[in-house]
Amino acid sequence: MTAHEAAHQWWAHQGVGANVQGATMLSESLAQCSVLMVMEQEYGPRQMRRFLKYELDSYLSSRAAERVQELPLALNENQQAIHYRKGSVVFYALRDAIGEEKLNAVLAEFLQQWAFKGPPYPTTRDFLDLLYARTDAQHHPFIRDLFERIVFWNHRVTTAEVRKRDDGRYAVTLKVHAEKVSTDGKGKETEEPVDVLVDIGVFARPPGGKEADEKVLYLSKHRINQAETTLELVVDELPYEAGIDPYNKLIDRDSGDNRKKVTVLQ
Ligand SMILES: [Zn+2]
Repeated sequence: MTAHEAAHQWWAHQGVGANVQGATMLSESLAQCSVLMVMEQEYGPRQMRRFLKYELDSYLSSRAAERVQELPLALNENQQAIHYRKGSVVFYALRDAIGEEKLNAVLAEFLQQWAFKGPPYPTTRDFLDLLYARTDAQHHPFIRDLFERIVFWNHRVTTAEVRKRDDGRYAVTLKVHAEKVSTDGKGKETEEPVDVLVDIGVFARPPGGKEADEKVLYLSKHRINQAETTLELVVDELPYEAGIDPYNKLIDRDSGDNRKKVTVLQ
């Protein structure tokens, strides 16, 4: 909370959005973006899932009660679930895709352009135009999905098995399901082709340990472009669980099935 309010010294007190759709993305979502970076420095990237899941689930349960029409983040009309909750997840996903240095450079340039000025005030269009101009075109469809559309990346692990190899290492077979769905503001859904760069992770836990005690055995981005994918991975220790988007960086309708406890095969 303190980080959020302090962040308003930049987002709202220096640069303030025009009083149109999306204005609170430039104050509240950007303040949440700063919060996430402060939290990550304080607690470490591996501890962020709890907060991201909270933000994601708050967004999801609120949108279920939307009475008029859900709008994309960049066009939100001051809905708290969109500008705080979805905003957090969106900016964390953006940072994950383009890197913190790039994101910070874009934010700094945006403030240099707009801070301490009178009208005309910036809109999210100005922010997004700068973001598109300063990032590689390969990221643009994902950025559009995050900010300008309503999209869900539904991921789950269907099978996670491990077998000890003769050399003492462990072979993990992971079957993952991926789907991408877009929706209009009224809730009409359209399935879209799967094509996502997503974390695949394998984790160990000390006996009786919790997620906070876990050790990362494998963590890497994979390009997943079909509904069902089988991955074969080799790790050095006996894993406890494995996951697709295991840190819940994407907008996924059921964040609880992204990880699965591994079955040990003899
Ligand atoms: Zn605020």
